[in-house]
Amino acid sequence: MRLSRRSFCSSSCSAALSDLIAQTCIPITRLNSVKVRQRLQEARSADAYRDSPESNTFCSLTPAILPITLNLTGSEPNDRMRIAEIFYSIQGEGILAGVPSVFIRTSGCNLRCVWCDTPYTSWRPEGKERSLDHIVAETQKYPGGHAVVTGGEPLLAPGIVELTERLKQKSYHLTIETAATIFKPVACDLASLSPKLSNSTPWKKKKGLFARKHERQRLNFPVIQRFIDGYEYQLKFVVEEKLDFDEIEQVLTKLKDANPERVLIMAQAKSKKELHERAPWIVEACKARGFRYSPRLHIELFGNKRGT
Ligand code: SF4
Repeated sequence: MRLSRRSFCSSSCSAALSDLIAQTCIPITRLNSVKVRQRLQEARSADAYRDSPESNTFCSLTPAILPITLNLTGSEPNDRMRIAEIFYSIQGEGILAGVPSVFIRTSGCNLRCVWCDTPYTSWRPEGKERSLDHIVAETQKYPGGHAVVTGGEPLLAPGIVELTERLKQKSYHLTIETAATIFKPVACDLASLSPKLSNSTPWKKKKGLFARKHERQRLNFPVIQRFIDGYEYQLKFVVEEKLDFDEIEQVLTKLKDANPERVLIMAQAKSKKELHERAPWIVEACKARGFRYSPRLHIELFGNKRGT
């Protein structure tokens, strides 16, 4: 049986199905159009943001079937989002490292990285619902023209596109930090993509409760590609051991036109000591492969503390 876009009830569903097929590698012959239609209907009626901090659970269906996540229910308030913190510091990572910036950290994540350095936005999400007016006003209390929307996973928030548009209207240079598992047409100057390697999967945390779902969701090539094609971007990878570089190479082979000069490598580290231990071999591996070494200045300078 061959599935076509016409098999589906809307253009967004058919696009979602194309992505589903592209990513899950499920042989088309194994897909049954009725079943797929049912699953799409379930996805549409389910809370597309069941991964939200309120439930602190993964949506078992939606991100898998709709890799390019859409606001399916149309019922989520778009003018509020859960915010863990807004603070002024310097950018610690990536090509803008050192640039004074206002950080807007949303709460809630669809992944559960074992080494997550902001568990208060993922494993135990905290923060209050804030209106977009409030968020923009808080941002403007700080000096400078750079703002960074980070998380958690900021692209989960229904109001994220409007927030980015409003910040751009205020003339900020805007960076979005995302694991690139979800696409939304945000307005930004730099899409800072941080696809997760297998070292992030929490097999041994909470008895592996989140591991399989994390594993299923952590790499979403169509989404990464869409950002690469449409935005100024950087690709940041967190490495723990030398073998991680082979995995990065494999990821890059699945992406079209990913420029090695925009690939930044950071040590998995929550302390200055860990950073310093890993830096020497990471630097050597970067030199050998033409990748850029990224500092983690916030850890170097402040330790792994909130508000830095
Ligand atoms: S994607 Fe980021 S915020 Fe989410 S669990 Fe991983 S490190 Fe934490």
